[in-house]
Amino acid sequence: MASSSPDVTQDFVRSIVREDLSNNKNGGKVITRFPPEPNGYLHIGHAKSAQLNFGLAAEYGGRCHLRFDDTNPDKESVEYAESIIRDLRWLGWDWGDYLFYASDYFDQLHDYAVQLIKAGKAYVDDLSADEVRDYRGTLTQAGRESPYRHRPIEENLQLFEGMRAGEYEEGSRVLRAKIDMSSGNINMRDPVLYRIMKTSHHRTGDKWCIYPMYDFAHGQSDSLESVTHSICTMEYEDHRPLYDWFLDELGIYHSQQIEFARLNLSNTVLSKRRLLSLVETGDVSGWDDPRMPTLAGMRRRGYTPEAIRSFCERIGVAKRVTTVDIAHLEHCVREDLNERAQRAMAVLRPLKVIIDNYPEGQTEDLEAVNNPEDEGMGTRRVPFSRMLYVERDDFREHPPRNFYRLAPGSEVRLRYGYFITCTSVVKDPATGEITELHCTYDPATKGGHAPDGRRVRGTIHWVSAGHALPATVRLYDHLFTVEKPDEMGADFRDALNSKSLETLRGCQVEPSLASAELGAIYQFERLGYYCVDAVDSKPDALVFNRAVSLRDTWARIERSQESG
Ligand code: ATP
Ligand code: MG
Repeated sequence: MASSSPDVTQDFVRSIVREDLSNNKNGGKVITRFPPEPNGYLHIGHAKSAQLNFGLAAEYGGRCHLRFDDTNPDKESVEYAESIIRDLRWLGWDWGDYLFYASDYFDQLHDYAVQLIKAGKAYVDDLSADEVRDYRGTLTQAGRESPYRHRPIEENLQLFEGMRAGEYEEGSRVLRAKIDMSSGNINMRDPVLYRIMKTSHHRTGDKWCIYPMYDFAHGQSDSLESVTHSICTMEYEDHRPLYDWFLDELGIYHSQQIEFARLNLSNTVLSKRRLLSLVETGDVSGWDDPRMPTLAGMRRRGYTPEAIRSFCERIGVAKRVTTVDIAHLEHCVREDLNERAQRAMAVLRPLKVIIDNYPEGQTEDLEAVNNPEDEGMGTRRVPFSRMLYVERDDFREHPPRNFYRLAPGSEVRLRYGYFITCTSVVKDPATGEITELHCTYDPATKGGHAPDGRRVRGTIHWVSAGHALPATVRLYDHLFTVEKPDEMGADFRDALNSKSLETLRGCQVEPSLASAELGAIYQFERLGYYCVDAVDSKPDALVFNRAVSLRDTWARIERSQESG
């Protein structure tokens, strides 16, 4: 497993761990955990957290547990748990035998609850959920004690046993900790420990009809697993005193909680609740829609685990919450794919070109480099013939200044091929639309160089019309048009980008792509990086997803010309 050396990666979490190691705290052990709730697919924020937890363990010779915090059967499922395992493995993380579920501890957690009741530190409350909320008070107002707070221990034990046995309706009773209703920290105002839920659980079936709250399960699960450093996001800072209270009252091992800032990504939402709502409303095709910030979506789009890990590494770990520009992630993807992706030629919006002086019926194979960044990837043969397709956008009948591509009378280089000169333009008489170009080629320029030393400024890509394969290509843009859709509250869907998916049918790709494997990633020369869609692509109906575009200097020149 690739991991950065501790000398290179410096952040406050690693400083704490190093300090603990040098003081021989925890007997020199580092045990972390990644604790997802199986109520959705993992997203790029989870990748950051996984990288911190698994990465730390690897760097300091420790181990990282995968623990599912599965305390809410209403929202959780086996499908989600399986997707989480798949995505973590895909990222390259390994937990060995250390796979746990909070539900493994339900018996123990129940016993802890009984222990607190017996110590007079927990009570059964008959207030309704609304009343509990109302009695809790606000940030500026102390809470009020429930009329049931001073029940005798015996009665609490009996009622809690009745809750467990299924004698009461959902919502009729809860078990609460008895801490401090006037605490400045609302989490300490007698939080709920157990609620009645007559729902079967994806692992424990119908054994339980009461389930522990996340807050009552999390810290104790860490303790039971002897987790040394329990790393979580800043929202849990205010929960730490509560977790400490539980561990102290129960007299069990204390993991050290360390909070860091969660990742926010521009033009993206990273709340599972919101991602689920996009899936449920059909705004995206599923959790693995290539526009989703989920790992499943990114994989389908053509992002690699290496690119994602490199991104997580570079953004670093801090306490201050910031929004990272999604362009930064795209940059990491581009950089990784540049080294890895085989080159190919594809024409997304084809315009027919006839080379009038090339013999009819003749075909020749031209040699093309598979990856200029990596000679070891070799070369391939690309067929050339009299009829080609070029990109519609690479031709201008009335070219602006500095347009070095194809135009009447101008000469350009065909990538890996010949110099061609456009001699005439054919238009649809009814619409005026250009339907084909006629060109001549210079047979002496094979391989892209003229023996007389004359130069051309433009090189364009092409495919041979008689050999190319039809394909569908999907272009993706950011899912949201605003930088921080998360700050829009419930209206965040108003900021969905209606142009986040553009589907181009009738594209033409070079014939070597007939053997492209599902999920394979190519650089379409001059266009960007494209991945064979693992779900929809078929050998006779290829579908490609654009992972990222190339930074297109042409587009920049055109923009400056249009504006100037
Ligand atoms: P929700 O979005 O529903 O609040 P969650 O983000 O808390 O869910 P979990 O399954 O509990 O989801 O997360 C697993 C781990 O990933 C937790 O340790 C959590 O702190 C961390 N995590 C979740 N989102 C981010 C994020 N955006 N940046 C960094 N870490 C995150
Ligand atoms: Mg959570």
